[in-house]
Amino acid sequence: MDNSKKTVNVRQDFAILATQMNQQPLIYLDNAATTQKPQQVIEAIMAYYNTANANVHRGTYTLANNATNQYEQARTTVAKFIQATAEEIIFTRSTTESLNWIAKSYESKLQTGDEIVLTVAEHHSNIVPWQQLAQKTGAVLRFIKLDQTGKVSLTDAQQKITNKTKIVTFAYVSNVLGMRAPILELIKLAHAKNAITVIDGAQAMAHFPIDVMQLDIDFLAFSGHKMYGPTGIGVLYGKKALLEDMEPLQFGGEMIDEVTQDTATWQKIPWKFEAGTPNIAGAIGLAAAIDYLKKIGWQKIISHEQALMQATFKNLKTIPNLIIYGSQVPEDHYGVISFNLADLHPHDIATGLDLAGIAIRAGQHCAQPLMDYLHVLATLRISTSIYNQSSEVRKVAKILKELEAFFK
Ligand code: PLP
Repeated sequence: MDNSKKTVNVRQDFAILATQMNQQPLIYLDNAATTQKPQQVIEAIMAYYNTANANVHRGTYTLANNATNQYEQARTTVAKFIQATAEEIIFTRSTTESLNWIAKSYESKLQTGDEIVLTVAEHHSNIVPWQQLAQKTGAVLRFIKLDQTGKVSLTDAQQKITNKTKIVTFAYVSNVLGMRAPILELIKLAHAKNAITVIDGAQAMAHFPIDVMQLDIDFLAFSGHKMYGPTGIGVLYGKKALLEDMEPLQFGGEMIDEVTQDTATWQKIPWKFEAGTPNIAGAIGLAAAIDYLKKIGWQKIISHEQALMQATFKNLKTIPNLIIYGSQVPEDHYGVISFNLADLHPHDIATGLDLAGIAIRAGQHCAQPLMDYLHVLATLRISTSIYNQSSEVRKVAKILKELEAFFK
């Protein structure tokens, strides 16, 4: 029986799921890279362009006011989604841009000998900006290890987070292992040493609710396109006091208060960080994606995804030479499973799956340090979402078995 069908049935909202790839029905299992977009999001963007398009925060005419209201309403929707206030929400291009901005803004705040603590399981977007910051300031990066099951080790975190630590940053959910970091404990350890916390929420936002107040998160970065929204829009949440203490990173129209030939003053937060014309349609599309998730409801989303993860594990476990990385417990995985099949190259397997209409990712998943840590060159990765069904993962397992036999 297809348990996942009992909880969420949204496939009709995603036109792309009815298409074919290589003359086979498309099975899209690369949702950690980007999710597909429901009709509701596409229509919200179309409606904005068809009925309300004007630049924001400038014109005094009614159409411009409508555009401004829709853009600011989108900010309020995002704020409510994570229990923040609208002034704490800055629209960016992506998780990557949000993380870069924070790292850049700490150039003036760190000095030689300060430490930035991250984990060995980070995406390059949450490593390279900190490497740059360390190079510019003389700060040092320290990496928390994983335990035997792939979880971020709290024992190691206790050793790595010290009086020298100024920033603690980590992915809430790993894009390779799909496992959740012990966020509450890590944030408490960081705050006990007066360090700020920067959470990479890229892989978390589509899977469960996040309350920045309750978790006491200082900064949170995420991307619209990984939670059924459009590409090119991201969010940087920051606690009000921290954002007020940050200098703007880009300069130009919209972010200024007054300008003379020699000087300028800035707007209040969040606008002081949004120089130039923003991605208005993107913000509106992201808000529509949030409304879409809210309409389905977290309870249904979570039970659908857990049932799907169980089905994925059950099917993959029928293949003797298949190794799943990280926890062997389906409930520990939030939409992502990485694995290898015998000693076959992940790219060969992914190509074979592609011919059967199945889109999954093979490679290093922008996490080369984690690949080194796991002593693997690359992995295959299945990443699921609300529209996937257990019949799809059954087909994946069937084709994997055929490919193993073929390559033998
Ligand atoms: N962090 C994690 C954990 C990710 O999985 C990704 C994208 O895959 C990113 C950051 C970067 O997201 P974006 O490319 O949308 O900036």
